[in-house]
Amino acid sequence: MSATPSATSRRRFAWSIPLRTRFRHLEVRDGVLLRGEAGWGELSPFWEYDDVESATWLRAAREAADLPFPTPVRDRVPVNVTVPAVGPERAREIVLASGGCRTAKVKVAQRTGGTVEPVDAEIARVEAVRAAFDDAGLPDAAIRVDANGAWTLDDALRRIPLLDGAARGLEYVEQPCATVRELAAVRRGVDVPVAADESIRRAADPLRVVREEAADVVVLKVQPLGGVRACLDLAERVGLPVVVSSALESSVGLAAGVALAAALPELPHACGLATAQLLVRDVTGTPLLPVDGALPVRRVAPDEAALPAVTAPPELRDRWFARHDRLEALLAAGRAA
Ligand SMILES: [Mg+2]
Repeated sequence: MSATPSATSRRRFAWSIPLRTRFRHLEVRDGVLLRGEAGWGELSPFWEYDDVESATWLRAAREAADLPFPTPVRDRVPVNVTVPAVGPERAREIVLASGGCRTAKVKVAQRTGGTVEPVDAEIARVEAVRAAFDDAGLPDAAIRVDANGAWTLDDALRRIPLLDGAARGLEYVEQPCATVRELAAVRRGVDVPVAADESIRRAADPLRVVREEAADVVVLKVQPLGGVRACLDLAERVGLPVVVSSALESSVGLAAGVALAAALPELPHACGLATAQLLVRDVTGTPLLPVDGALPVRRVAPDEAALPAVTAPPELRDRWFARHDRLEALLAAGRAA
C-alpha cells in the first residue's frame, strides 16, 4: 500500500479561501499552486476569464515555479491597505488594523444592479479613512480611490473633486472610467493624477495609455501580464511610475508581485500587495502581511499545517486541474494571447 503523498510533496494543489468582505463580486478566492524547480507559483485567473486570457496567468505561475525571481534592489515594499465598498465604521476599522500602512486605496463606484453607489457614501468612506489616519497619528498618509472603470465620464468629473476634498488631497484616482479616451479626458479635467489599471492589464495594446497621455501612473499585476519579467519589460516601455498590485492572490501569488516591486528601479508609490488581509486564512502560516506598512521581500511556500483548512473541495479541485491542463496545452501549442 502506498502512502498518501503529503500535500506539499505534490506538484499542484487546489485551494479555496473565503474573503473577509465581499470584494467586487467575489466572496471566495480560489486557484492552483504549482511546484517547480525554483519554488511555488500561483495560477488563479478569475473564473469569468476565458482560456486564452487565462493562459497568460499560467505564464506567470510557470515563471515563479521554474525560475528564480530577478535580483531585488530593495528588501521591503511599502504597501497600501485596501478599503472595499464598506460603510465608514468598517472602513475605519480596516485602516486601523492595517499593520501600519501609510497609504489607503478606497474602492468607489460600487455597482449594485445597474446603479452606482451614491457619491455621499463614497465621501463618507473617504472621510472615515482620513479621520482614521489622523487618529493613528498619520496625518500625511496618502489616500487613493479606485473606481475599476465604473464611473461615467460625467460621474468622474463631478465626483473626483468632491472626493479630493474629503481626502484632503487624493494621491491619485485609479481607472475612473472604462476607456482610454475617457481616462485622458478625466486627466485633462481634474487636478488629481490618474492611474491606469484595467486599461493596461486587459488591453490588447497597453502602450495606448502612454500615447494618448491618459495616465500619470500605471498599475501592473504579475499574473494578468504574464510574469515578473514581462512586467519589468512593460514598465520600461511605459516609462511612467509603476504601482504593483495583486489579483487577490494567496501569499504564494503575492510573493511574485513583491518580487516585481522589489526589482523595479524606482518605486515612488505604495503597492497594492497587502491583500492577504482580505482573506480569512492563507496557504501558509506565515502570510505576506504588512509590518510597519511594508512587506518583506521573500518567497512563500504553502505549508502542511495551513493546507487542510484551505484545500479546495473535490469538485472545485477537479475543475481547477482540468483548467490548468487546458492552459498548459494552450501554452504548449503556442496559442495563448
Ligand atoms: Mg484597480
